[in-house]
Amino acid sequence: MISVNEAKKKLDKSAIRGRKKTVSLLKSLNYILAEDLYSLIDVPSFNNSAMDGYAMSFDGTQNSWKVISTIQAGDIQTPKIAANEAARIFTGAKMPAGADTVIPQELIEKDAENNSVHYLQNSIEKGANVRLKGSQCKKGTKILSKGSKVTPGAIALIASVGIKEVNIFSPPEVAFIVTGNELKEVGEPLAEGEIYNSNGPLLEASLRQVGIENIVALRAEDDQQALQQSIDESLKKYDIIILSGGISVGDYDFVKVCLEDAGVEELFYKIKQRPGKPMYSGKKANKRVFALPGNPASVLSCFYQYVHPCIRFWMGYENVWQPDLILPLTAEVKKKQGFTFFKKAFHDGKKVSILEGQQSFNLLPFAEANCLVELEEELDYFPEKYKVSVYNL
Ligand code: AMP
Ligand code: MG
Repeated sequence: MISVNEAKKKLDKSAIRGRKKTVSLLKSLNYILAEDLYSLIDVPSFNNSAMDGYAMSFDGTQNSWKVISTIQAGDIQTPKIAANEAARIFTGAKMPAGADTVIPQELIEKDAENNSVHYLQNSIEKGANVRLKGSQCKKGTKILSKGSKVTPGAIALIASVGIKEVNIFSPPEVAFIVTGNELKEVGEPLAEGEIYNSNGPLLEASLRQVGIENIVALRAEDDQQALQQSIDESLKKYDIIILSGGISVGDYDFVKVCLEDAGVEELFYKIKQRPGKPMYSGKKANKRVFALPGNPASVLSCFYQYVHPCIRFWMGYENVWQPDLILPLTAEVKKKQGFTFFKKAFHDGKKVSILEGQQSFNLLPFAEANCLVELEEELDYFPEKYKVSVYNL
């Protein structure tokens, strides 16, 4: 049996990144860039007005101009402006040749009769209210680095520099196999002795939340042959295989022997932790396997402690093993020494409370929990305000 940290180190050492994949800009949302991005153009690519107003050559002495034309956003042909002339101009419209300044219309007095404008203040400086070509970025400027997450704002930036496809780290294709003869799917009638499959929905939701689109949900009876077939086929088709249940020492727990027969190389089996002690992980070439004990609490904490970081690394994230926060406990906690405990908890960003009902079959605290708290192996007592590692769910 190994410690939590040893298990994480083994997974970290064997972790792999996804392949690069070219996708259209919008498809890259929430993925990690697998390349640096450089602007294809100067942005803006022409000098343009930042205001609705009048464009002219401004030297601070002249205060009347004849309006010779109107320039709208999108107009390509613009007139040349002489020293005593101005153009009516709108926000985003191209500056005419000969003009260097825009006076906002609020500061202008118009003379409709001879079509001229007058500026009777002195708050404006030469060059005011003009967005210069290349002032956001020049062609060839690095606008985003490899490893950045593509947010809606990043998508806007990428579009603004003219890039329509980007390379992201391709997420893994994941299959999960839920084992257990006692399981029924929600919606089916339940006989005495049966329970609803909640690990399947939990795994599917967690995978979706981390951004996996290709998820295959499978079920296997506690039957060695059926399970073997399901594992063999999944290993051929998918990158990551997650199993729920059947990994303990019961007479009908066939997962480990089936994985061995499938040629999966064991990374570890059994971790000094609660819940989730009998967790197994293995690899076969570039396939990764995680077998989680069937108790829902084990699935929740083993997924978020081990599977989630490996998937995030695959998808291009860095620092995947770090706790999200270190926070003080709102109340003291006692536990058995020699095991790391993961407790469902709620934090408000400042402090963290461990929830009631931590038994491994009890799903009531799942709904309220927004994190898992790690209680270290060596200790058995954690006073109020003790600072613990917090992992967001
Ligand atoms: P196992 O690891 O297969 O021995 O299962 C441990 C406990 O978790 C048993 O009480 C199972 O009934 C329960 N369990 C196993 N799989 C599921 C599942 N998919 N959904 C809910 N509970 C499960
Ligand atoms: Mg079982």
